[in-house]
Amino acid sequence: MILPKAARLTPEQLTEVTQIAEAGGCRVQPIVGTVRTIYAIVGDERDELMINRIEGLPYIERVDQIQSPHKLMDRRSGLASHRITLGGVTLGDELLIIAGHCTIDPKNPQLFFESAQAVKEAGAHVLRGGVWKPRTNPYSFQGDVKSLDILLEAHRRTGLPVDAEVMDETQLKLALDAGVHMLQVGARNALNYSLLRNIGRAVAERDTVVLLKRSLHMGPINEFISAAEYITAFGNPNVILCPRGTAPTLDGYRNHPDESITPLLKEKTWAPVVVDPSHSVGKAAYVPACALAAVAYGADGLCIEAHVQPSKGIGDDPKQALTPEQLAETISQAKQIWALRHPLKVASA
Ligand code: PEP
Ligand code: MN
Repeated sequence: MILPKAARLTPEQLTEVTQIAEAGGCRVQPIVGTVRTIYAIVGDERDELMINRIEGLPYIERVDQIQSPHKLMDRRSGLASHRITLGGVTLGDELLIIAGHCTIDPKNPQLFFESAQAVKEAGAHVLRGGVWKPRTNPYSFQGDVKSLDILLEAHRRTGLPVDAEVMDETQLKLALDAGVHMLQVGARNALNYSLLRNIGRAVAERDTVVLLKRSLHMGPINEFISAAEYITAFGNPNVILCPRGTAPTLDGYRNHPDESITPLLKEKTWAPVVVDPSHSVGKAAYVPACALAAVAYGADGLCIEAHVQPSKGIGDDPKQALTPEQLAETISQAKQIWALRHPLKVASA
């Protein structure tokens, strides 16, 4: 929909706009109002260049696009009936819990094996464990490929599917070859379109699930959904959106908790939403409330950092990991909230 700055376009202006629209395969239909005339773009209006050209005209106020820019991720797309199943849970039918270490300590595999068993007993369906870590400080521990073996050994011991972040093509290949079930795209890489495309291409023929974090600096919701479209465009629709807090931070928290965007995402896309309360708030004491809020907002799952002995952990674990007892309590309360929101599903289970 084209809105001119003046009450209506002059005949010359209408001719110019029409020529641009026609070059983009569309036509222009004036909608005459008593005060103002606006102009509908009839046809596929997702041609970015066409929109930019019209919006760039000095007499145009703005162009409002009615069609969604993300064809596959749109709620009305053919993929809307797609269901993602992982760890025995079909997203949307039951609350999915991903839990485990922020970072696997390659010097202490036993701790990870203990945490893996403990999060399973607490009710987790997927085991997370950081192999390679995006660290703000270049001198901090950056992860170690040895942890990939530890992660897969924990999978063999517990039967839980495993999730790890990959940041480049080498890590992507190693993780897929090792059999990692869920690839995490971290907040720092959520806008790295070349990595998103590489992941999309690499998982196209597989049933791997991608957990796409919301970037620290992501703006409009469409930006997040379009990032997911980069992956699904190659053919694998197993993408889960993961709000994890944004910048600037809310004073006292690690980030600005953003679980409240869950219903907004769900209005636009069919993709499941799994919220990460751990990085949102950044401190174990605040994590349970954030997790419960996320479920109240309609999240389909939670990704929570948990550790058998947080103080012996590395990476984020000493400050933000829940103990298995805290995790079990949080899961139990989160499930109660989930049940309140999905009474019919609970009744038929
Ligand atoms: C993590 O999951 O440990 C992590 C680094 O997450 P994020 O990318 O959200 O910061
Ligand atoms: Mn972490």
